Amino acid sequence: MSVLRIAIVGFGKIARDQHVPAIAATPGVELAAVASRNASLPGVPHFTTLDELLRHGTAIDAVALCTPPQVRRGQAALALAAGKHVLLEKPPGATVAEIAPLLAAAHGARRTLFATWHSRFAPAVEPARNLLSGRRIGAVTVAWTEDVRVWHPGQGWIWEPGGLGVFDPGINALSILTRILPRPLFVTAAALSFPANRQAPIAASLALADTEGLPVRAEFDFRQTGVQTWDIDVETDGGRLTLSSGGARLTENGEVLVDAPEAEYRGLYGRFVELAGRGASDVDLAPLTLVADAFLLGHRSTVEAFEDER
Ligand code: NAP
Repeated sequence: MSVLRIAIVGFGKIARDQHVPAIAATPGVELAAVASRNASLPGVPHFTTLDELLRHGTAIDAVALCTPPQVRRGQAALALAAGKHVLLEKPPGATVAEIAPLLAAAHGARRTLFATWHSRFAPAVEPARNLLSGRRIGAVTVAWTEDVRVWHPGQGWIWEPGGLGVFDPGINALSILTRILPRPLFVTAAALSFPANRQAPIAASLALADTEGLPVRAEFDFRQTGVQTWDIDVETDGGRLTLSSGGARLTENGEVLVDAPEAEYRGLYGRFVELAGRGASDVDLAPLTLVADAFLLGHRSTVEAFEDER
């Protein structure tokens, strides 16, 4: 099998922290170029924009779009038109409807469109899904609270329209929920807190349900200092399952079932290599749809202005 030559587009935090090491650690894929207005990587061909990279004719098979969601649709369309496979960082776009034309373009060109949800590759997620498939589920609670100054320093795009605010990490919880629960979820109520000087929520409280009336409560908050929490608790007829540390650890009634090192992006690139080998796509819009519905249904309140620097 030939190696999938990938260009990373947008060289910010996630490109450096996860994509570069995951590409290096995954068989069947290599980093062939970087497109970034501000950054480069020694020894790797560099271009300022994706357009420049494509016009130069550099030999690549695929792009990994690590830019903010507001600019990704145009980049994906450009790459697909040039015959490249496309990996989209999460969330797949700034709107729900912009993805269908991309998927059609990928099908038409027999190329891969992979809308990634990295949290679904966390080690305890599939074990949790398998366990829950045999259980009666009574209630689900999600607590996804982190310090935005620690995890998203200076990321102005997160506060702009389409940047999702606290749903930028919160959608990871929703990507896990929509994977592990047996039936589709929908939002029944939402409360969104917008800083007075921002266009995206800093906190959100969601009520969700499924067709069997399963109650799901989810709390997202960017103002958490100290201990950070990325937990999902599921009450079942066999006891309480807790998926913690963003899906790395699973306990049942306090007993540890899974506690494994994080390797989400290696799993994600393994999946991309497999999909590109067949020209198949993998696009699940359920998490983004839930966020969009929270914006549709949410009561809005204005809270204290947010500044990056205290
Ligand atoms: P980031 O550090 O702000 O990096 C984004 C990069 O995109 C910037 O470095 C910039 O790259 C490029 N960019 C920004 N605005 C642009 C524009 N208007 N036009 C073209 N390029 C632009 O953000 P990030 O944390 O890496 O997040 C990027 C995506 O990955 C987001 O969708 C986020 O949800 C997702 N993600 C982030 C994390 C995390 O922990 N940070 C985890 C998982 C997923 P250049 O200066 O290089 O052009």
